[in-house]
Amino acid sequence: MSPDNANLAARLAKQIETSGSISVADFMQAANQAYYAKGDPLGVNGDFITAPEISQMFGELIGLWLTDIWMRAGRPEGCKYVELGPGRGTLAADAMRSMKQFDFVPEVLFVETSEALREMQAQAVADAAFLDIVADIPYDAPLLIVANEFFDALPVRQLVSTHSGWRERVVVRDRGTKFMATPGMNAMDEIVPAEFRNAPSPSIYETCPAASSIMYELAGRIAANGGAMLIADYGYTLPGIGSTLQAVRAHEYADPFENPGKHDLTAHVNFVELANLARMRDLRVSGPVEQGSWLKALGIDARTQVLSASRPEQADEMAAARDRLVEATGMGSLFKILAISHAEWPDPEGFAVNQSLG
Ligand code: SAH
Repeated sequence: MSPDNANLAARLAKQIETSGSISVADFMQAANQAYYAKGDPLGVNGDFITAPEISQMFGELIGLWLTDIWMRAGRPEGCKYVELGPGRGTLAADAMRSMKQFDFVPEVLFVETSEALREMQAQAVADAAFLDIVADIPYDAPLLIVANEFFDALPVRQLVSTHSGWRERVVVRDRGTKFMATPGMNAMDEIVPAEFRNAPSPSIYETCPAASSIMYELAGRIAANGGAMLIADYGYTLPGIGSTLQAVRAHEYADPFENPGKHDLTAHVNFVELANLARMRDLRVSGPVEQGSWLKALGIDARTQVLSASRPEQADEMAAARDRLVEATGMGSLFKILAISHAEWPDPEGFAVNQSLG
């Protein structure tokens, strides 16, 4: 652990002492930067597990989805594979393997801020190039972009209704000993949509400016040069009220304001906002649909059978992994899949119109 991370709580406490408070968004940003800088949080022995770590089938099916849309788009030259927050690099490695079977070997760009995770990603995909921010992605080629559990890690702003109007929610020190969220001083009424403005106190309305700017930036590149983007995450398909900020450590929920940098802070993704930003760039929006129905449409059941037949001793394990990805008791309903693509590219697979949510 770098001294910087070890001292995060002390640094934030000092900052609060100086300025009175910091916004929930700044707190979340600092906490997650320190958290991911520490290294690998994933897997059974880590803090949380993600779809690509549950089964190779997840990344393989995404690789096939990308290959399919690329082929039907006429195999455009110089198409790049871009992944946002690739974790251990498992999804990309699995996707590359299925793409290669169709002689599709795109250049790989990883947008990743954590040095420790970059090292793992370089082991998984030897030729990957690394970028700090999406603005560094070159503006010269069609892009196939993947983001699994990336947007939920981005900092949310929280606005809270009080008896004297909407305020930014901020973090303070409770009696100088403990971090605590409370309504701040700044009036925020204008940025709360009219439909929620009269919500009873204390209601919380969230926005994620970081997610919106990343989405708008990427949509601009797809509009200019072609391509598609696949987003998998938990989130909502209708705008609403309520805090979705949560902390997870060792697979258990924790207080998001305690021990900054020691656990993963996430918030639900606003799929409506992401889809609307893509529409503003005249892109096609497919979904969001539930992850379970999307994986079934892509043939996860046939793939489970093929893998089980080739490795019978692992058949039970594969069936359990398939259920965890697909069924509502696992990730199947909570997680959603949204695709964004150039309007002149073919319709992406797996998004039957009648399955679209919200
Ligand atoms: N996609 C992976 C990992 C999800 S965890 C999987 O599904 O297993 C979130 C990932 O996003 C981590 O790799 C983390 O380091 C990265 N990340 C978080 N905030 C980021 C930011 N602002 N810019 C780039 N990467 C970020």
